[in-house]
Amino acid sequence: MPSTAILWLRRDLRLDDNPALQAALVDCARLVPVYVYDPDSEAPWAPGAASRWWLHGSLSSLDQALQAFGSRLLIARGDSLAELRRIVAATGATRIHWNRLYDPTSRERDGRIKQALRADGLRVDSHNASLLFEPWEIATGTGEPYRVFTAFWRRCAARLSDVRPLPAPAVLPPPPESLDSLPLERLGLLPTIPWDAGLRETWTPGETAALEHARTFLRDRVRGYATVRDLPAQAGTSELSPHLHFGEIGPRRMIAMVKEQWDDPTADPVESFVREIGWREFAHHLIYHYPHTTDEPLDRRFAALPWREDDAERMLRAWQRGETGIPLVDAGMRQLWHTGWMHNRVRMVVASFLTKNLRLPWQAGARWFWDTLVDADLAANSLGWQWSAGCGADAAPYFRIFNPVLQGERFDKAGTYVRRWCPELARLPDKYIHQPWTAPAALLGHAGIRIGRDYPAPIVDLKASREAALAAYEVVKTAA
Ligand code: FAD
Repeated sequence: MPSTAILWLRRDLRLDDNPALQAALVDCARLVPVYVYDPDSEAPWAPGAASRWWLHGSLSSLDQALQAFGSRLLIARGDSLAELRRIVAATGATRIHWNRLYDPTSRERDGRIKQALRADGLRVDSHNASLLFEPWEIATGTGEPYRVFTAFWRRCAARLSDVRPLPAPAVLPPPPESLDSLPLERLGLLPTIPWDAGLRETWTPGETAALEHARTFLRDRVRGYATVRDLPAQAGTSELSPHLHFGEIGPRRMIAMVKEQWDDPTADPVESFVREIGWREFAHHLIYHYPHTTDEPLDRRFAALPWREDDAERMLRAWQRGETGIPLVDAGMRQLWHTGWMHNRVRMVVASFLTKNLRLPWQAGARWFWDTLVDADLAANSLGWQWSAGCGADAAPYFRIFNPVLQGERFDKAGTYVRRWCPELARLPDKYIHQPWTAPAALLGHAGIRIGRDYPAPIVDLKASREAALAAYEVVKTAA
């Protein structure tokens, strides 16, 4: 019997490879695609300012795509369950479909909503749109979750031939006529003070842009990915992370697009790029199995690590503003502020600097990233921070402390990246671009720089702060 079905969209803002959409379409006379903005239910991880900016663009794009099919996006705001019940009552819907989320807050909320709607007599089904494999499908020989990436990815990679995305629908049933949507602007996702010029210059949210971006990357740049992916001055990585986070493109479509061009996605020249999709998968595996790792170290010995107590606020602020006096760190933090994104190599450097040289808690860094990244993703962000701080799964050992000067000299040899984001250093010769405080006074004068006035003196001594971090780490080594 044809029925009315609700498609509850969340971080699957696309028509392509959307299993909840395809399931909702079966015997469907009327389809109600709905997005409920309910930040309270996501607390303490409600979307940050940069994510809200992206969400606005993504919802607008999805609505346009639906309208091209004679459908439209119904936007609501408030408690998710109450809003869904209101829409059920208004439409006579008998079914509701959504795609699963794997972070602890969403799981708790969605489980509760599923139970309540089933008790109301609705048919409720959830599906997988955002991962290659469900986190519970991939397990060690003894049935345990993986904590080491290589073994995890070996298991996943062996199954990549099974990965098949669903096509976008060819037609969509109309929505019920008399259903009012909240205007998108009423969600208040865009900033009231216009700080978002850099975001607008850099990004185009939405499924159409995501697919186009993926196609261009795979056609023109993926071949060089393995060699240039660590060079922050080059557009060497895909920059697909916000599109993947909001589900404007899914990982199954990514793998299928790779397979259209190369037989084996786990061989050169695409292996290293596909492996990063594997890290995304691993992040979700971890957050599903170890939900406390959004706030607490996976390696519990690290709970004993003594963080800095003196001057912590000033240090954190200098890091956030890109005013630490360490050029590669400052360039990264300014790229983040301006564009809502930071190159992965630099993310690792700024995270190491915060947690080791400044000895400030990784949670403080994760929070700042949460508010400023357009790709802020609880699974990837928690993994990235714990990896950098040495306390996560398969983490960089704590005692391996990145030296931001050497990292700069290795990965930004000519200082192009630093010059772009710290223009006050632009006239320094390459030799000093990553450590301006060591330049002779005459040379600094010639380049128009007074350290401490035009550009900050380093807020910590790199060598002494490294030694202090290693001393603090002794506590962890002996913790039970
Ligand atoms: P590519 O190199 O082109 O990789 C392709 C895709 O693979 C990415 O879009 C992303 O979805 C995934 N991916 C790549 N590296 C990782 C990784 N290490 N972990 C998980 N997934 C990965 N990534 C986020 O998407 N959101 C975050 O909030 C986030 N926070 C991070 C915090 C820290 C401290 C660190 C060190 C890393 C973080 N990352 C995060 C991972 C990584 O930096 C970004 O995914 C990557 O820089 C995005 O750029 P790209 O799309 O060009 O990546």
